[in-house]
Amino acid sequence: MGKRYYCDYCNKSFADNPVSRKTHLSGVVHAQNKRAHYDAFRDEEEILRDESNKRPCRTFLSSGQCKFGDRCQYSHLTNDDKAHLAEIVNHKRKLAEIKLQDTPQDVEDDSFIQSLDKWTKKRAEKKAQEDSAKDGPIPKQTFSAAIPDYQLAECLTSVVNPPPSLLPPTKEELLNAEYAEWG
Ligand SMILES: [Zn+2]
Ligand SMILES: [Zn+2]
Repeated sequence: MGKRYYCDYCNKSFADNPVSRKTHLSGVVHAQNKRAHYDAFRDEEEILRDESNKRPCRTFLSSGQCKFGDRCQYSHLTNDDKAHLAEIVNHKRKLAEIKLQDTPQDVEDDSFIQSLDKWTKKRAEKKAQEDSAKDGPIPKQTFSAAIPDYQLAECLTSVVNPPPSLLPPTKEELLNAEYAEWG
């Protein structure tokens, strides 16, 4: 028994050779079956739009039959069919909206992102403050407050005229001192 080709669309198998395959795949019946298959998965909205753009097929609508079948250039949908499709489309849209609004995962993600945003913003502000403090000169008041009150060492209190290098510096002196830049 030779190899056989099975066509999913037509639910049919035949001897597999290039000629019969080509004949089948280019055949009208195969094209119709293939189209019918995809029509089943086509979005109702798309079908509705396509069909609404077509003129109604008088033959089909009056007799229920049309020799062109799915390939007919006119629409085989009755007004009821279209209304039904429109209902399905609306229903699907509503479902999609509800899904969008009520998904707990999304809500969680939103608040998480918001708190993350806040944190990032705060951090950026803090960093900007630190940076500007680093760049600018330290205000004298801040510096003055940071200077400890130096006292004369106790062991020197009894010394008459201690050498200047042993005297505690005053705040005034420290504030006006020239500092060498090391680098
Ligand atoms: Zn086929
Ligand atoms: Zn028709």
